[in-house]
Amino acid sequence: MSLAVPTSSEFPTLAREGLVYLDTAATSQTVRPALEAMDRYYETYRASIHRGIYSIATEATDAYELARERVAKFTGSTARETVFTKNATEAINLVAYSWGRANVGPDDLVVLSQMEHHANIVPWQLLGCKLAYIPMLDDGTLDLEAYDELLARSPKLVAVAHVSNVVGTINPVAEIVSRAHAAGAVVLVDGAQAVPSLPVDVAELDADFYVWTGHKAYGPTGIGILHGRRSLLEVMPPFLGGGHMIARVGDFESTYAEPPTRFEAGTMPIAEAIGLGEAVEWLAAIGMENVREHGRDVTAYALERLGEVPGLSIHGPAEADGRGSLISFALESAHPHDVAEILGREQVCVRAGHHCAQPLMRRLGVPASTRASFAVHATRDDVDRLIDALGTVQEIFA
Ligand code: PMP
Repeated sequence: MSLAVPTSSEFPTLAREGLVYLDTAATSQTVRPALEAMDRYYETYRASIHRGIYSIATEATDAYELARERVAKFTGSTARETVFTKNATEAINLVAYSWGRANVGPDDLVVLSQMEHHANIVPWQLLGCKLAYIPMLDDGTLDLEAYDELLARSPKLVAVAHVSNVVGTINPVAEIVSRAHAAGAVVLVDGAQAVPSLPVDVAELDADFYVWTGHKAYGPTGIGILHGRRSLLEVMPPFLGGGHMIARVGDFESTYAEPPTRFEAGTMPIAEAIGLGEAVEWLAAIGMENVREHGRDVTAYALERLGEVPGLSIHGPAEADGRGSLISFALESAHPHDVAEILGREQVCVRAGHHCAQPLMRRLGVPASTRASFAVHATRDDVDRLIDALGTVQEIFA
């Protein structure tokens, strides 16, 4: 099926002649309604939020809080459980510093998976606790038997990606969460790659913390999301201190605002929150089931076409059903960076590197991979352009 998404009009960048943008897993293009909403803020009611009592300050506050409601509704959460951050990385750090320092000691265990992004590894290393990894099987899925063995060691936290940004695997998050809860562990899910491409319902998944990021979800950069279970957020100490997050500041100690404000210190990315609110409205109007179906269709076609390229091997699940809308691959004849550079010369934008997932690269036994990822605007024609450009790579390296 194909979606009625007019590419060049909805995404201004795509109006550039000949551009095939297949790097949406790194960052998506920002959709026009989000850009327009941000312009409106800057041009007609730019003011600080939650403080001013004049009309445009109230307008700005209302727009920011409406964005929070939209974002919460989009992911099956509530505004009271939705904290704006700078990005997914900051959202995970917030949990590690606030909840982590209060609840995880040096001898406590945090369970990660072998397919985590550095954003969901390094904050837990900084916390200074014990770490263990759910191994990835050769088919690109997580080893759930090994997971059960790790749960028997009573971890304090399980932190896993919903969708891998390298192998694309859609992890069985609801199952991972329910097993963790039965073992008494809290769960953080990194939904950075999931929210833009699949229907996500945080309440249904029952995750205690669910993080994602606006710049991969057709919103602007500089805005991320932490959904946190209200009962946990309420007892968590602040992450960053300063203006706005307080109730009262004494000379030597202070009391703090209720969540989510407690975790939003200083002047927030107001325009960006408003932009993201608009982006998720736009996605909701298309329908995330449709977005998923389109992504699955283009990914299935890409798997088929890439399978025809001699000397090319695909990392991760063989079928599109088990994947988000992205594919990492290796070409026998050329280094991933050379592949990406030559594709770039043909205006086919893909990413090459370790994708901020070095433990996973070691598991795959490769230093890097080339990754193509498929946004709502990606078409089968885009995949054909990718395959043609790979033909050029092979001619050069033959
Ligand atoms: N987790 C995953 C799975 C990601 O793909 C990314 C972005 N590459 C991140 C976390 C970090 O997102 P951000 O850069 O917005 O903090």
